[in-house]
Amino acid sequence: MASYKFIINPVAGNGKAKKILPLLRKIFNKAAVDYEIYFTTGPGDATGAALKGARDGFEIMVAVGGDGTVNEVLNGIVGTEAKLAALPGGKGNDFATAVAMPRNIEEACKALLKGETKYIDLGKVMDRYFINSVGVGFDAAVARRANRGVRFFKGVSAYVYAFFETLYRYDFVDAEIDFGQGPIKTTPILVAVGIGQAYGGGMKIVPDAIQDDGLFDICIFEKVSRPLMVYHFPKVFSGRLKYVEQAKMFRAEEVKIKLSEPCPLHMEGEIFTGDRMHFTIQPRVMPVITGKK
Ligand SMILES: [Mg+2]
Repeated sequence: MASYKFIINPVAGNGKAKKILPLLRKIFNKAAVDYEIYFTTGPGDATGAALKGARDGFEIMVAVGGDGTVNEVLNGIVGTEAKLAALPGGKGNDFATAVAMPRNIEEACKALLKGETKYIDLGKVMDRYFINSVGVGFDAAVARRANRGVRFFKGVSAYVYAFFETLYRYDFVDAEIDFGQGPIKTTPILVAVGIGQAYGGGMKIVPDAIQDDGLFDICIFEKVSRPLMVYHFPKVFSGRLKYVEQAKMFRAEEVKIKLSEPCPLHMEGEIFTGDRMHFTIQPRVMPVITGKK
């Protein structure tokens, strides 16, 4: 019988993650498996809790929150024996979706108890691991603006507001992007590097990405006029951005990005800034619980 440590972010999804606790207890008590519940106290806390859980011998570390919580748990358990799982409870649940975790919590708990395991690729950039996707440039700037909070707007409308404000102010930077065969010189709107297909709560930026092929799927969306950005960008939600001429898709084992100015990078809920980024991948090293039968 597997053992579980639930790492719950009580503020994820406006308290959504916290609300599932009674149901969670009911299901896991009934299943009579060994489990522990932990509430995170602030940013970064989930990483230490996950590492401790792995050292205590819990086999499955369950991030209960959004993609930010998943990323923190991941960074705690890389290199241990623990498996990664996610119960969707945040604003963006792109990893949970990528591993086919049901949105319904009861169904998702069933999948956890079944414990079907898949080994997927693990990415690293700027000394941090990621399991789903990273965006550099305009999309990260929008995420940063939306995270800071927008007066009078919430949820999707806050994102739309942040999009237009960022669009108006954004300074494009020149980039050299190298997949190991010499640099491509370009002025991108954004560069996305994915193991999974979506980020930002359902934006299918690299819709053909495969989680265990040992390769990143990369989208370089080259600079277009601002009106064309407004026209093309919404296509990311349906995965149709890839048909836009200026959205170039690639697959590679590593990606080096050199920027003329430091740019924001968003990694599973966390925002960083940098002008040199080196993405590396470890094929099929990360055990994750999948909802797929
Ligand atoms: Mg892949």
